[in-house]
Amino acid sequence: MRRSLFEDTHEDFRESFRRFLAGEVVPHYDGWERAGLVPREVFSEAGRHGFLAMAVPERHGGAGVNDFRFNLIIGEETQRAAVGGFGLGITLHNDICLPYFLSLADEQQAARWLPGIASGELITAVAMTEPGIGSDLAGMSTRAQRDGDDYVVNGSKTFITNGINSDLVITAVKTDPSARHRGISLLVIERGMAGFERGRNLEKIGQHAQDTAELSFTDVRVPRGNRLGAEGAGFGHLVSNLGQERLSIAASAVAAAEAALDWTLAYVRERQAFGQPIGSFQHSRFTLAELRTEVDIARVFIDRCVQALATEELTPEDAAKAKWWSTDLQGRVCDACVQLHGGYGYMSEYPIARAWADARVTRIYGGTNEIMKEIIGRSLGL
Ligand SMILES: Cc1cc2nc3c(=O)[nH]c(=O)nc-3n(C[C@H](O)[C@H](O)[C@H](O)COP(=O)(O)OP(=O)(O)OC[C@H]3O[C@@H](n4cnc5c(N)ncnc54)[C@H](O)[C@@H]3O)c2cc1C
Repeated sequence: MRRSLFEDTHEDFRESFRRFLAGEVVPHYDGWERAGLVPREVFSEAGRHGFLAMAVPERHGGAGVNDFRFNLIIGEETQRAAVGGFGLGITLHNDICLPYFLSLADEQQAARWLPGIASGELITAVAMTEPGIGSDLAGMSTRAQRDGDDYVVNGSKTFITNGINSDLVITAVKTDPSARHRGISLLVIERGMAGFERGRNLEKIGQHAQDTAELSFTDVRVPRGNRLGAEGAGFGHLVSNLGQERLSIAASAVAAAEAALDWTLAYVRERQAFGQPIGSFQHSRFTLAELRTEVDIARVFIDRCVQALATEELTPEDAAKAKWWSTDLQGRVCDACVQLHGGYGYMSEYPIARAWADARVTRIYGGTNEIMKEIIGRSLGL
C-alpha cells in the first residue's frame, strides 16, 4: 500500500541519509559492534550532514525544521541498513532528548547547549532508571539537595543509552524525597563535573554497537542554571515527552520488522530444500503472508500516529498502543524469520540474527509493554 505520509523533500532527505549510512556507518559497523560503542566523531559527521536535531532553531545552529517525519526516516533507514545499534543512539538524541531542551530550556540554556546538540559535539542522554527502580519512576532515590545556587547530587542510574558517549545527561532527581511524583526535577549533568563517574559499558545480548552504561553521582555540584523546567515538575515533563519517545520506538520496531521480512523473502527465494525454494512450501508462504499483513497494518497505525503527533493529538494511550503492539510484532517477525533462515539465522554474520537479538529489548525499554497495557487499561476506566 502506498504511503501518503511523505513529500518530495522527505524522500530527498531519505536518499541523502541512505548515502550517509552507506559511506560512514555500514563499512565500520562490525568494528563498532565489537567495540561496544559508536565513535563520537560519527555524531559530529551526522551533524555536519544535517541529520542531528533538525528542529533546533536556525539562530542556534539548527535547521529549524520541526517535522517528526525526518526523524522517522532516520529510524527507518538505520533498521533497513541493519545498523540498529547506531540507530538507537541517534534516535535517542533526536527524538527523545532534544524535545526536553526545545520545550524546557530558557534562552541562556538554549544558547549554551543547542548549537552543540545540533552539531553533534554535545551528545545527549536521559537518565531515569536506577538500579532499584525502573517502571516505578516516582520511587527513584537519586537525591539533589539545594546548597546556595547549586544542587548537590548523590545517587546512581543504570541502563543509560549513550551512557559512555554522552556530554549532557538529562537526569531525573528527587529534590523533595518526601514527595513521590511531585518531588522529581530534571537536571542537566555535564561531562567533567566533579563526582560524576561512568561505570561499565554494560554487556548486552543485542544492540552491541550501542553504549549502555551505569552512571554514578557523588556530591556532584550542579548549578541551578542546569535545571530544566521548574523544581518538582520533572515527572510531568517526563510524561509529556513519553508519547514521542514511544512513537519513535514503535516506528523503528515496524521498520525493523519490514527489514527482517525483506531479508527473509530474498533468502527463502534462493535457498533450496527437497528440490524447491524453501519459500514455496505452504508453511513458509503462510507464515510470511501473515507477517506481511500484520506489518502493513502496523505501518498504517504508526503513520497515523505520526500525523497525530504533528497536530498535538497523539494521546498517551495511542502512543502506548503503538509501542506495545509494534515491538511485540517486531519480536514475532524476527523470531519467525530466524526460523526460516534455518541454522544461518543463528549466525551473527547474518543481519537477521542481529536483528533478532536487537529486538528483544524494545519490549522492555521506553516503559515495558506491561506498563503500556496498564496505561491503556486505565484509559478504559479499569
Ligand atoms: C538496552 C537498554 C537501554 C535503556 N536505556 C535507558 C535510558 O536511556 N534511560 C533510562 O532511564 N532507562 C533506560 N533503560 C531502562 C528501561 O527503561 C527499564 O529497564 C524499564 O523501564 C524497566 O525497568 P526495570 O528494568 O527496572 O524493570 P522493573 O520495573 O523491575 O520490571 C520488571 C518486570 O515487572 C513488570 N512490572 C513492573 N511493574 C508492573 C506493573 N505495575 N504491572 C505489571 N507488570 C509490572 C515489568 O513489566 C517487567 O516485566 C534501558 C534499558 C535497557 C535494557
